[in-house]
Amino acid sequence: MEKVIILGSGCAGYTAAVYTSRANLNPLLLTGIEVNGQLGMTTEVENYPGFPSGIMGPKLMGMMKEQAERFGTKIIYERAKEVNFQTHPFVIRTDDREFTAETVIICTGASPRKLGIPGELEYSGATGGSGVTYCATCDGAFYKNVEVIVVGGGDTAMEEALFLTRYASKVYIVHRRDSLRASKIMQERALKNPKIEFLWNSALTEVVGSDQKMVTGVRMINLVTKEKSERPIAGVFVAIGHVPNTQLFEGQIQLDENGYVVTDHRQRTTVEGVYAAGDAQDHIYRQAVTAAGTGCAAAIEAERYLAALESNS
Ligand code: NDP
Repeated sequence: MEKVIILGSGCAGYTAAVYTSRANLNPLLLTGIEVNGQLGMTTEVENYPGFPSGIMGPKLMGMMKEQAERFGTKIIYERAKEVNFQTHPFVIRTDDREFTAETVIICTGASPRKLGIPGELEYSGATGGSGVTYCATCDGAFYKNVEVIVVGGGDTAMEEALFLTRYASKVYIVHRRDSLRASKIMQERALKNPKIEFLWNSALTEVVGSDQKMVTGVRMINLVTKEKSERPIAGVFVAIGHVPNTQLFEGQIQLDENGYVVTDHRQRTTVEGVYAAGDAQDHIYRQAVTAAGTGCAAAIEAERYLAALESNS
């Protein structure tokens, strides 16, 4: 039986692993399918403290993994496909085996919702392309003095568009309806920004690019008039929501109406001994450094819980 099982290999997971392994808890980390999480798929990370010249996302994640292994974390490249938190020790099953653990730290992250149109994947960092991105805070600074598109009508799209006006010469917001879902205050800010232009009732139908796998433009359709158009553009920021990777925990712990794990301010879920950190429980900040921070907090809580269990037995 393991003392700690960590689910997920992003910033939260590796940080929880560093802390629990340094506490001699010999944690087991199941990486999941997207090994190294969202940063494993980005290019340069300029906002992670400690790297004044920036660092490539996969490199940063490789270093976190190495740091976790240095203190004794066991890493298994499998995905949890079933959990049982109704018994203690908790049970976690992968395709091939079953594990039991006294504590579990959920760090399964979230994935940006995809448009699902031709060219989206091909020109995104995940496949070595560039120009399609899901995080303005991460990638906005690479789009200086060029025109970009933000897709979406929620608060994230408004926030991303406003952030991008610092760099881009013009930001188009493409929204599928003629009214926004975003809060009034965010709407007002975006609507009155002279660098932002709204393309209402519109949807991208294809992202097109160069042989170097860089975005050069988009194909669009007006959903009301059905008129088709093409627009040269340097970057496409998709901001149509995130999907937390938490389906596995339905019925086991409390999830909110959008599927995020409900935690208290000490990263505790509704099951004692089960903690959650990073994007699986955070739809507000979604930053590498906040994920790492909550991973640390969850690890410390797990350590204290185990110490209390031991002193009671
Ligand atoms: P939302 O779910 O609020 O908005 C998603 C947007 O994307 C909607 O406008 C939706 O259109 C559109 N959309 C969804 N799927 C597609 C698709 N396939 N093609 C085109 N468009 C699509 O997600 P957000 O990430 O914006 O926000 C998530 C939560 O986080 C919200 O509660 C938000 O308030 C909060 N948040 C708060 C912030 C703040 O307070 N500063 C900042 C960022 C987020 P439609 O409207 O037609 O459904």
